[in-house]
Amino acid sequence: MYVFDRTFLEIPCPQCSYEVDTQYRLVLLEDFVFCPCCKIRIQFSDDQASGHRARQSIHYALAKFQKEIKNLNKTLTINI
Ligand SMILES: [Zn+2]
Repeated sequence: MYVFDRTFLEIPCPQCSYEVDTQYRLVLLEDFVFCPCCKIRIQFSDDQASGHRARQSIHYALAKFQKEIKNLNKTLTINI
């Protein structure tokens, strides 16, 4: 849905602390990744839906920002 979903995050492996690159969408989908260092499976879980709430907050902030930019364009005067 958003470019944000394809953003990469570094998540520390719970076993070896290696920083594992993963896409945000995998966290939202409660998917899993394998640690490239120790090879364990890391299962994402978001019982509080904090990932979805963060995503929604970013969406609203971007929409508000776009609206403000459009309003600025209506009042902006460029002197040459
Ligand atoms: Zn690991």
